[in-house]
Amino acid sequence: PDHATALREMTPQSERFHERARRITPLGVESNVRSFDPYPFYIDRASGSYVTDIDDNRYLDFLLALGPIVLGHNHPEVQAAVKQQVDRADLTATPQPIAIEFMEKVAEMTPSIEQVRLANSGSEATMHALRVARSYTGKDLIAKPEGGYAGAHDYALMSVYADEEALGPKERPNTVPFGTGIPDAIRDTVVAIPFNDKEHTEAVLREHAEDLAAVIIEPVMFSAGCLKPRDGYHEFLRDLTEELGIVLIWDEVMTGFRLGPGSAQGRFGIEPDMTTFAKAAGGGYQIAGFGGSREIMSEIVPPDSDDEEPWNTTAFHGGTYNGHPVSCAAGLRTLEILSSEDVYDHIDRMGELLFEGLQEVADDVGVPATVEYVGSMGQVYMTDEAPYHYRDTWAANVDRFADWWLEAAAGGVLFGNPMQSERFFTTYTHTESEIEAALEVAEDAFKAVDH
Ligand code: PLP
Repeated sequence: PDHATALREMTPQSERFHERARRITPLGVESNVRSFDPYPFYIDRASGSYVTDIDDNRYLDFLLALGPIVLGHNHPEVQAAVKQQVDRADLTATPQPIAIEFMEKVAEMTPSIEQVRLANSGSEATMHALRVARSYTGKDLIAKPEGGYAGAHDYALMSVYADEEALGPKERPNTVPFGTGIPDAIRDTVVAIPFNDKEHTEAVLREHAEDLAAVIIEPVMFSAGCLKPRDGYHEFLRDLTEELGIVLIWDEVMTGFRLGPGSAQGRFGIEPDMTTFAKAAGGGYQIAGFGGSREIMSEIVPPDSDDEEPWNTTAFHGGTYNGHPVSCAAGLRTLEILSSEDVYDHIDRMGELLFEGLQEVADDVGVPATVEYVGSMGQVYMTDEAPYHYRDTWAANVDRFADWWLEAAAGGVLFGNPMQSERFFTTYTHTESEIEAALEVAEDAFKAVDH
């Protein structure tokens, strides 16, 4: 059966709109990951736990903008803060107090951050963090886990997806640019490490220790679904990078302010040298940033000397839209709510109900599926065994996942997007009865897919 049939039938306006969209933009979407077969549906409005498309179908939302929506869509207090700021001032390029207040709040909540700078996307944040780490160490090479995503810029877009032949041996993976247009010279600034494989990670890091500026890594590899760190992998990496003088950057773009008030580092009790964040920090508005110790962040500050070209001796960080006041107002209000209400208790409890429930219904139906989650974030792998290494995630049946997703979407529930390498979330407005309703839809969708 064509699992898209039901969704197609309910989205005629989106299908028509997609034709128009494809004329103006490749794939008819603003970002590649929004495209799927047969066509994406276009959203008209969002509120609380729901989004409504232009055909007036309402979906219970666990995609949540790929992570940012932690308080529910259009949280009234966030909206009020945005409206107040819109009336006060737009962008000025002279600093506004709201951005400083937002950064103070970020540092107050994040154990490892003494100083912070802002950006507009996770990609910008990781790009600048890598530059600062290179400046600090005076070295060029970066290590990142195979299968991890750390942003869309050339310096990070390596070994994200590729075929097995290109990636080579799993213990010593090759570095493979994700897609075309990335110079070989930049590929050679990155070495790939195998996530959760301590022995071979150590071998790679020791071999390149003299050249390595930084390891950039997600606390949980959500860019491969939900690949959990196992057997003390992060404790081991923390110790080893410290020993070798390599800056440890935790890319908390996905996990930041979502896995707890202190982000993943607070939850796991590990202090990286630098941290990047975005998504949940802005509560639906575009804010991102990076931070670390005062010592590392002072790489950005030109020396106070008679040097005639001081900028050339430090790491540049700039951006017209950095600290946009509207985003900072949204972010500050979001962080205030996150640190004063029982948001994490709630989203984690909803996460437990949802993800444990999904495992149960998959088992009941007899679909080989393994649900992995941490707090409010998780993924359904269409395979019997929980992945340990990144390449274990390849065992999951991606077609079955996409079919299941399409069936559930037609039932009015968005379990993330139809890609196995993504993950989905719970949010503050989700209720127990919404989770129950979602599980019923999920069960019917499991029944409908090939298994
Ligand atoms: N780092 C991680 C771990 C991410 O998950 C993402 C985006 O999903 C990024 C970086 C890039 O963030 P952005 O899409 O805001 O550029």
